[in-house]
Amino acid sequence: MNSLVGMTTSEITELLTSIGQPSYRGKQISAWIYRRGATSFDQMTDLSSSLRQRLAEQSSVGLPEPQHRAKSDDGVVKYVQAFHDGQSVESVYLPYEDRVSACLSSQVGCAAGCTFCATAQGGLARNLTAGEIVGQYLRMQSESERRISHVVYMGMGEPMWNYDEVIKSIRLLGDEVGLSYRHITVSTVGVPAGIVALAKENIPVTLALSLHAPDDETRSRMIPTGRKWKIDEILSACAQYAQITQRNLTFEYLLIGGVNDSLEQAAELARVLNRYHLPGNVNLIPFNYVETEQGFRRPSRDSIGIFRAELEKRGRTTTQRMTRGQQVSAACGQLRRMHESDKRSVTIELTELGMGKC
Ligand code: SAH
Repeated sequence: MNSLVGMTTSEITELLTSIGQPSYRGKQISAWIYRRGATSFDQMTDLSSSLRQRLAEQSSVGLPEPQHRAKSDDGVVKYVQAFHDGQSVESVYLPYEDRVSACLSSQVGCAAGCTFCATAQGGLARNLTAGEIVGQYLRMQSESERRISHVVYMGMGEPMWNYDEVIKSIRLLGDEVGLSYRHITVSTVGVPAGIVALAKENIPVTLALSLHAPDDETRSRMIPTGRKWKIDEILSACAQYAQITQRNLTFEYLLIGGVNDSLEQAAELARVLNRYHLPGNVNLIPFNYVETEQGFRRPSRDSIGIFRAELEKRGRTTTQRMTRGQQVSAACGQLRRMHESDKRSVTIELTELGMGKC
């Protein structure tokens, strides 16, 4: 069955004219799906009931089904959303005072194998289509009173390994949903060819690099792909990105106690970024605890402060990511893993925390 989500307005128009409808129907239906929050044909009240029925017989809007919603006190809602084949991913709704952001997955699982990441532990199941990526956003928007104005590709998966569908989904979010490209951030484990390709797409999204360490040895302990693509090659690609797009990057730095949080490593990080003349913020992310073989732990509050001060002293601007949604296991892949492996225990845990619908 055809899913309409994922199609552009002109593709929907083509579909409608092929069944003898006037071409303005395409625009009308596309607006319902991408801008007016319709999740089924029934809700498209300005279409005749016979047309709605006909459409429903041969196609569907195609949004994923939320299997699970976990709401935290700070308003963060973590979703597990399922697709037609039963595969599921996590998406997160993140309300702030001045904006609402959606964190989307680009793949079911991930092949990167990062040693601190819950998603990595299950490996990769499959890529998502552009429609499945945008569908996560639309499903959350359909349940939100506030407009979701920002999107980050920081859920499950590596966007650069599903490049074409990710680019298509970004264009749909910009051109069809109407988001500003500047409000879209693509986060990568560091795939040099993908970074350079993205620079040439001529879409002014923000690129975030999961750098996490200033030297290859430490980085490879955390990110196995660091053995293949060295920091030197990745940062050269980032410098090209900055030069071609004239945009600042974000450098994500996951802080793990005793692994990458020393004063020397902060100094080295600043030196490395300055050496490549790379503009952009360093976003410090305290490790969101998941059980790991290495026994990784969160850094102390003091060491985060010292690390941050050293970077700033050396001319780097920093932000510290607030840990949000902790009650709902908001680290990448945690909730889905619990959901898959033991649905009962998750329900109990969430009920104990007094959380919403499951
Ligand atoms: N594959 C992409 C995007 C998905 S991961 C990437 O690597 O950037 C999004 C971010 O969450 C990355 O910076 C990743 O390193 C981080 N992350 C994964 N597990 C985490 C954890 N347990 N605590 C904190 N951040 C984590």
